[in-house]
Amino acid sequence: MKILVVGGGGREHALIWKIAQNPRAEKIYCAPGNGGISQLAECVDIAATDIEAMVAFAKEKAIDFVVVAPDDPLALGMVDAMEAAGIRAFGPNKAAAIIEASKAYSKELMKKYHIPTAEYEIFSDYNAAKEYVETCKIPVVLKADGLALGKGVLICKTREEARAGLKTIMEDKAFGSAGNTVVIEEFLEGPEVSVLTFCDGTTILPMESAQDHKRALDNDEGTNTGGMGTFCPTPKYTAEMRRRVEEEIIVPTMHALNKEGRKFKGVIFFGLMLTKDGPKLLEYNARFGDPEAQSVLFRMKNDLLTILEAVVDERLNEIQLEWEPGAAVCVVMASGGYPGSYEKGKEITGLEQVDEDVMVFHAGTKLEDGKFRTAGGRVLGVTARGRDMEEAREKAYANVKKIHFDGAHYRTDIGIKK
Ligand code: AMP
Repeated sequence: MKILVVGGGGREHALIWKIAQNPRAEKIYCAPGNGGISQLAECVDIAATDIEAMVAFAKEKAIDFVVVAPDDPLALGMVDAMEAAGIRAFGPNKAAAIIEASKAYSKELMKKYHIPTAEYEIFSDYNAAKEYVETCKIPVVLKADGLALGKGVLICKTREEARAGLKTIMEDKAFGSAGNTVVIEEFLEGPEVSVLTFCDGTTILPMESAQDHKRALDNDEGTNTGGMGTFCPTPKYTAEMRRRVEEEIIVPTMHALNKEGRKFKGVIFFGLMLTKDGPKLLEYNARFGDPEAQSVLFRMKNDLLTILEAVVDERLNEIQLEWEPGAAVCVVMASGGYPGSYEKGKEITGLEQVDEDVMVFHAGTKLEDGKFRTAGGRVLGVTARGRDMEEAREKAYANVKKIHFDGAHYRTDIGIKK
């Protein structure tokens, strides 16, 4: 089989590492890919959002199977375009990807189908939103409706912050047209859990739970990032909680999408908060989360390509997911300054010292003259498994310490939070 993976981050490296374990994966291409991916796949310089060029490339190389990993090309309809060209593609079509592309749509869906979520109001008129913010309960959460690189959510602790935040989203358009509409919602408290699922429209299979660490600094301080590390599973996601979430949130979502004529085939990511009033759904993503994918896939025993094909062919009922026991921890090593401005091109050393049973998934790297260099904010995801979280954490950090680049920054508390 000739396979094309669209994307170029740590998630795509983890996906390709798993797919490559299947001997049927004869040739793997990745567009645009990165330094680490280039060791396993042929990287092609096509932007992940360039649908026309991607389809033309897939046709030219007679690709048998495409995996569209990031949110933007899914929202733009890359899977529809591949299917129209007669190419099998993993990921939701444009109609189904709306559950991530529009937060307003996803909130209305949750409400219509009684899926527990935070109370909210939706505004497209700035003046009406301003008026609402003067009387709403504080703290309050403001969300730009559209895709905003995971940064379109503002938690406002005071009314002053809420006024300023609203202006940032709706008037200053800090997130572009994603902020034409805003969701203003109730502030919830409790531990957060990410649950990734495979869905083929008839069967929905939850993977092991994971926990992301969004803030740049230890103890959840500093600014929001794309994610500084994950662990899998989350101890807070007990068997009883899992049963409730599947019954109240996961299965109803699949049925809701079918009823709306938006059959979902791909990965649905459920961002949950375990509040004292029970589990509530914060958001959907229409794809694998990153860095969640790194720790979750590192524990998956199944052959991934078989699962991806089963989703596309609607045979997911034949699959039973199996997991390596224990836990996995992924520590992200980022460029100094991230998520603000940072320098690129720093040489990365020590990768050859890493233990054999540890995976270093590359995100922002490139390979130049035989040397890996930094090429993005999040650079590497050092991922280790252990009999328990403590062992996984110790192993991950022991290996982080072997890797060096100028200005490298990482959190030291991934896997400590219980
Ligand atoms: P989202 O992209 O909707 O998951 O939001 C990003 C992050 O903002 C989440 O991971 C939460 O940490 C936080 N968040 C979102 N919605 C709420 C809420 N209603 N209450 C408290 N925190 C929230």
